Amino acid sequence: MALYHGFEPELKFFGTMNGGSDSHTNAFFCPDDETIVLIDMSLLNRRRACEVIRNMPNLKRFYACVTHTHSDHCTGFAEVAYLIKNERPGELLTVLTDRAVSDDVIAQLDSSGMRAYHTSVGNEDEIYRMLSYDEYGGAYAFYDKHGHTLAKKTKPEWFIRSLVTSHSPRLKSCGFTFRSHGKLIVYSGDTNELVPYLNFLRMATEGHVGYDDPPIEFYLDVATRKSELHLCFAEIADELKVMLDEYPTLNLILMHYDDVALLARQVNEMLPTMLNERVFIARVF
Ligand SMILES: [Zn+2]
Ligand SMILES: [Zn+2]
Repeated sequence: MALYHGFEPELKFFGTMNGGSDSHTNAFFCPDDETIVLIDMSLLNRRRACEVIRNMPNLKRFYACVTHTHSDHCTGFAEVAYLIKNERPGELLTVLTDRAVSDDVIAQLDSSGMRAYHTSVGNEDEIYRMLSYDEYGGAYAFYDKHGHTLAKKTKPEWFIRSLVTSHSPRLKSCGFTFRSHGKLIVYSGDTNELVPYLNFLRMATEGHVGYDDPPIEFYLDVATRKSELHLCFAEIADELKVMLDEYPTLNLILMHYDDVALLARQVNEMLPTMLNERVFIARVF
């Protein structure tokens, strides 16, 4: 197993582990010089995110992709949103999520300090904008946080789609798929199932998202312990083997783990060398 040797993943991680650790899995990438896309933000990482934004004066577009409402993913956006509103006049943070979780996300953002000044469209007190993705019958639509349908052209060009997945028995979560610098990015978010991502990969590599054999980066939530919330690496190792075989341009990046040393050992033991060269454990940038 390589530790990023010669491989520069598109995503930079503020933290890489689970909600019970002091390194919550939140990340960002820049699809171009003027755009930043944050993926989840907890209280632990919000200062670092503000620092990154302050150090990039060229940024003009600010996005936050939110996977679900657990506190290690959704509690830290207020400070970032206020920073953008106060220090970049005319700009607002645009929150992107799936329609299946958007009501919960709005409630969680409100309670984390992004106050609900969104009773009228265009209110100057607005702290953030929202786009929520919905797919129905093969078509997609975006909605704002008032539930109004937005035109298709509001889709940012780096965004492909969100994927609804199961996380806890009571909580849905969503993953995201992006394109950035010619790569196809698949981000699982917190999930206890692999199927939505395998289905997407099949569809994507059959050319339905306008790519032929793109380099793929698949960021996947795994733990060494078994739980109902997360995929357990030992249980899915065989499926990952098949996937790595089937997609030779795919690099797999493991994140949100519980025990880095044990996970590294399991990767080395359970995946053949030829394949585990394309498996990486996410590291803080
Ligand atoms: Zn989590
Ligand atoms: Zn979670």
